[in-house]
Amino acid sequence: MIPLAEAQERVLAGCGVLAEITAPVDDARGLVTTETVVAPELVPPFDNTAMDGFAVRSADVADAPATLAVEGTIAAGVPPDITVGAGQAARIMTGAVIPPGADAVVMVELTEVSADGAAVTVAQSVPAGNHIRRAGEDLSIGQTVFGPGEVLTPGHLGVLTSLGMYRVRVRPKARVGVMSTGDELVEGPQALELGQIRDSNRHTLLALVAEAGCEPVDLGSMTDDEAEIAAGIRAGVEKCDALLTSGGVSMGDYDYVKKVLDEIGDMSWMQVAIKPAKPLAFGLVDGTPVFGLPGNPVSSMVSFELFARPGLRKMMGHSPGAWHRQPVLGRAAGPLRRRPDGKTHFARVRVEYADGQYQVTSAGGQGSHQLSAMAAADALAVLPDGEGLAIGDPVPLLILR
Ligand code: AMP
Ligand code: MG
Repeated sequence: MIPLAEAQERVLAGCGVLAEITAPVDDARGLVTTETVVAPELVPPFDNTAMDGFAVRSADVADAPATLAVEGTIAAGVPPDITVGAGQAARIMTGAVIPPGADAVVMVELTEVSADGAAVTVAQSVPAGNHIRRAGEDLSIGQTVFGPGEVLTPGHLGVLTSLGMYRVRVRPKARVGVMSTGDELVEGPQALELGQIRDSNRHTLLALVAEAGCEPVDLGSMTDDEAEIAAGIRAGVEKCDALLTSGGVSMGDYDYVKKVLDEIGDMSWMQVAIKPAKPLAFGLVDGTPVFGLPGNPVSSMVSFELFARPGLRKMMGHSPGAWHRQPVLGRAAGPLRRRPDGKTHFARVRVEYADGQYQVTSAGGQGSHQLSAMAAADALAVLPDGEGLAIGDPVPLLILR
């Protein structure tokens, strides 16, 4: 067996960063930038009001209450056609341009308009600049908005479009093919014959791929047939940036994925000191990373978490600190027992935030075939080799949602 960190290093070494592309902003959420974005214009583009109210000369209201003549109304989106002179005010709406002559805004709540609308009485004095949002107060021309390596959030996309930038240089989503293998697998609601099971791994893996910010490609299910599996893998690596297979990588007579990958790929077969997901095949087929994930449903998901997801994130340009999930510390609220076996265990646990801490309890049966506990799990609890944890012990968590 090899330590987890060593297996992860081997995987990461085989995952090359994808070539950058130009993407429309509406397709770029979650992608990683490769350019320094510099503001080509001011945001806000002009001095404007943060409030509905009246644009005034602050000197005119210094001895408030003061009554001013209302010269007209300035709406958002139109250039002001009013100059505010001494003793005058202009009704103004949020986002509208500050008219020449005015140096402050009084919010409508502090004003009272005469019955005929021709005059306004301002109740309080306001300083110059009151409620005025200055041109360039958010971004000035030539200012670095963000650099390369930034993960684009909805906020970033808003900043780009506020600057009139609708395309951005990024690493693309990895196209990730998912293929299941096994003569026992069936798809669909029909009654199972003895020996058959339903193919669940392909669906969980396609969803994990999407959740990791990649583009899933469904490559279907293969029977345990060497030629079919070989053709499927070859076709898959041609159209995808990475490939996930499930099943057929253990020591059984019909584990042809192992045989085929040995023939056509440059593979490492690893026994990793973890439970579940001890066996891992990883390597390159025609230069494309292929993850031979174990067939047991929980193992395939944990293997995806610990190996495929970090590799795919590297490919998509995430920085090294963001390849792996960062553990957070919780507290065992129920016993999390295990036996010494030289492995680190990843227990499926529920996590609830109470009394200022993450409280951790088992999510159910911990067998590698017991997918229901995986579905119920909020996190994987990292249990080092030994007898496990007692109530009250600190426990590192990889939060899954
Ligand atoms: P294998 O690695 O092919 O020996 O499979 C290990 C276990 O996982 C067996 O019990 C398989 O029936 C099961 N298994 C393999 N592939 C899938 C799948 N796509 N969905 C659900 N279970 C699977
Ligand atoms: Mg099999």
